[in-house]
Amino acid sequence: MAIYSQRRQRSFLYWGLSCVVFASAEVVASLRVFIDFTLLTYTVADILIITAPTLALYGVLWHLTPERQYPVVKYICVGSAVALLALSPYLMLSQLFTSLVVATLFAATAFHLSKARVLTNIYILILTFLFVLHSVLMLGQAAYMSSILSLPISDKSNHILEIILVIHLVLTTCTALVFPMLYFTRSEAHLINLANFDALTNLYNRRAFFTFGEQRIKECIDKEQPIAVMMIDVDYFKRVNDQFGHDAGDAALKWIGKKIGDHIRSSDVAARIGGEEFALILANTDHETAIKVGQRLRASVFESNFRWHDKAIPLSISIGVNCQPLACKDIKHMLMQADKGLYIAKNSGRNQLVENDDTLVGAALS
Ligand code: GH3
Ligand code: MG
Ligand code: MG
Repeated sequence: MAIYSQRRQRSFLYWGLSCVVFASAEVVASLRVFIDFTLLTYTVADILIITAPTLALYGVLWHLTPERQYPVVKYICVGSAVALLALSPYLMLSQLFTSLVVATLFAATAFHLSKARVLTNIYILILTFLFVLHSVLMLGQAAYMSSILSLPISDKSNHILEIILVIHLVLTTCTALVFPMLYFTRSEAHLINLANFDALTNLYNRRAFFTFGEQRIKECIDKEQPIAVMMIDVDYFKRVNDQFGHDAGDAALKWIGKKIGDHIRSSDVAARIGGEEFALILANTDHETAIKVGQRLRASVFESNFRWHDKAIPLSISIGVNCQPLACKDIKHMLMQADKGLYIAKNSGRNQLVENDDTLVGAALS
């Protein structure tokens, strides 16, 4: 996890650097008013102007897939610097070149952001929009520059280029403001994940099970729907660890977690609530359906072969179920009833499902 956050922080570092480089570019370019040293105030400024979006693009790529390296992005700066030095005697041409490279870099950044498939994130949407707008603006600047390339510099052309520069500054400032939000929402989502999900199986953890389970039961009560709760325990799991090792045990839990996920709907709540214990809430599910789902899951675990390094490890689960034709009880009550069913399933030889109807099992257990 430490590695994860450090890697993400690196993208933040690139964005920060991009802002610093852009600010430096503006300072160097504004020196034109005071000194007549075009190699610094034009060529170096243009190199910095290209470096800033390159760093932003690199930060975005790193943010989206931190594992990958993008050496090509690094060479953009070097290649552009060489080209700008060669073009340094032709100021208008070098600025035209800079506009085109920057437009391409913004378009590439927008393209990668839109490919991220997390466009539901408002900050990603805003950033993508800003980069597209920025790219169009830079293309517009390039088109305008090429149209006045052969003409003498006039007040009108200067005025138009100044307007473009102001829009460019506003867009850059907005982008710089949105970048940190992107990072913080990602970190927040990551923390929420850590707080709610079991790292091994990717199912909810115990805490989230009670939070979301309670919500789901309330919804069923409001809509007068049936509901079912299941307690699942892996049979003789200690033997798996003892015979094949703890890693094999972990892989087996992961495998069972996946099987559970495959057998339920997205509206159901599934969690690993203890070491080798899982719990399910099947909302709007009647008695027959709950038994069918539970039996199918139990049979699937027993009949599919779990393999660990080419060794077949036989696994089975026992299930206790509690169904309410009309949801009315709280989650703790239903879990307790399902747990009693599980207890009977264990005592009756394991690898089975026992339904515990409140009234019926109360009598059976006494
Ligand atoms: P039963 O059929 O009665 O449930 O037998 P069992 O062996 O499954 O039950 P028991 O409670 O004796 O043992 C549960 C074992 O689960 C003991 C513990 O080491 C193991 N376990 C709990 N959590 C984990 C985990 O995260 N990973 C692994 N590999 N093992 C775990
Ligand atoms: Mg157990
Ligand atoms: Mg067990």
